[in-house]
Formats: sequence, structure tokens, C-alpha cells
Amino acid sequence: MSLRDELVQRGLLISMGVDGLYGRSGAFERVVEHINLAFGTLGDPDRPEVMRFPPGIGKWQLEKSGYMKSFPQLAGTVHSFSGTDRDHGALLETLKEGGDWTAQQQGTEIALAPAACYGVYPAIAMRGPLPAKGRLVDVYAYCFRHEPSVDPARMQMFRQREHVRLGTAEQALAFRTLWMARSRALLTSLALPFDVAVANDPFFGRTGKLLASSQREENLKFELLVPIAAAEHPTACISLNYHRDLFCTAYSIQTTDGEIAHSACVGFGVERLALALFRHHGFSAEAWPQKVRDVLCF
Ligand code: ZN
Repeated sequence: MSLRDELVQRGLLISMGVDGLYGRSGAFERVVEHINLAFGTLGDPDRPEVMRFPPGIGKWQLEKSGYMKSFPQLAGTVHSFSGTDRDHGALLETLKEGGDWTAQQQGTEIALAPAACYGVYPAIAMRGPLPAKGRLVDVYAYCFRHEPSVDPARMQMFRQREHVRLGTAEQALAFRTLWMARSRALLTSLALPFDVAVANDPFFGRTGKLLASSQREENLKFELLVPIAAAEHPTACISLNYHRDLFCTAYSIQTTDGEIAHSACVGFGVERLALALFRHHGFSAEAWPQKVRDVLCF
């Protein structure tokens, strides 16, 4: 039986009839909550500012961040009906005929967040130049990426828990080094097998292979990969991204010295981490090794 079928059969994931879209059971959510607790144990001592955003961002933010240049195929926008009574009649006719009625909707001002940190940059930009110590933000949000898959670890709607660091290049890089050590230690303490890989950054994406290869050379993005569904294709459960000045240029975020700031983020894919734990330690969290339960404060 495939991992997805097993997760659905055991009731951990609830099928919604669309690949990559699932409900979560209480047992699954409990594991997610405790992964968030473990994240907090690592990150709370840094006293981040907490921000929580809905799954939607302003369409303008998607435009400003350059996401449509890089990953148009992954982006999602919210559409709604705004026509006349006559248009409504036409829509109902299309529905009756089993046609694609979504073409009779119009775009709204809302897009779906491709990563949890997208809400942070404009919020910080509104405050003017950064203080000398920079800023650190704790963010947690549902994200959307249009990549339908039968791999349960490749959901279309999933949550990311992130810390986002804004400051000088040195501050951003020091943050990433710190979280690399923390992330490796966490996966080790959770008894999960993992590899660290240099990857293409979702923030730069498609804008050209040139950029992608220079990015690999500069090690802008690291992923901690854990085998989940298929051992030969391990899944990125934690990512560490150094964006250079990409977002801070887009939103004109400056350091105290008036330079364009740099940013970095660490993102935990909480569903992926939960799936990794179920895959490696069994489908009942109550039966996981005590040392793993201790790390998760179970
Ligand atoms: Zn991020």
C-alpha cells in the first residue's frame, strides 16, 4: 500500500478528492502542534517578534516580490464572481452543462501565499530603516503551491513555520549558520535520517538557469532532506534561505546606515516533518521512542 493510502486509511489524513489537498486528523494535528513547540524551544530564546498572516497575501505583494517571474506555474490567485445577473445566468448554464465555470469569474486583490515569510517584508518596510540590531520575525502560515501530486509530502496547501531575519549581510548569514546547526541537531534528536543539500531557491526560481546555477555556487539555499514516501527522492523538510537583497530591494528596506538590507529565513515544513516522524517511528505517536517524544514535549 502506498504511504498516502495508508495515511488516509488510518485516518491521519482525510481525502478531499484532490491530489495534494487533505484534511488532518486530531492525531496528525497534535504532532504538528508539538513540532511547533520544538521549533519554539529552539527559537523563542531569540525573542522574535511574532506575526501571523492569513493564507492570502495582497496580489500586489506577489507582483512586487517577483514571484510571477520565477514560478508562475506554482502561484495561486483568488477569483470571485462579480458579473451582472445576466452573467450569473450564463455561469449557471455553464455549470449545468458541466463546463468550466471558473472562466466566468474575475480576479480579486488576493493571492495565496507561496511561503510564510511573504507577509513579513512589506510589514517591516512600513516601519522605515531597520534598527542596528536588525529584525527577527516568527511567522506561521498556510501556503499554496500548485503542484498536484500523489506524494503525501507534496501537498498543495501546507503550513510553514519560519523565522525571518532582516539586517546586514553578516547578520543574515550568521542567522542561517545558527539555524543550520539547530536544524541538524533537531533532526538528529528526532532520530530522523537526513541529508543536507544545496538547492535552487524558490525565491529566485525560473528567472533563468544562469541565476539558478550562480545561486548554487553561492550556496544561497540549503535543504535538509528526509526520506518520506520514496527513499530515492527524499523530501525537503527544513529549508534555510539567504535571499541576499532580493526582498529588501523590492520593498526598499534599509539598514541603519542607509544600505539596502539583506534577509534570510529558516522554514520548517510542519506537515512534512510530521509525515517523516510517522514514516520512521510508526503511525501512532504514543508508541514513538521516548527520547523522540521528549524532544517534542509529548
Ligand atoms: Zn521564507
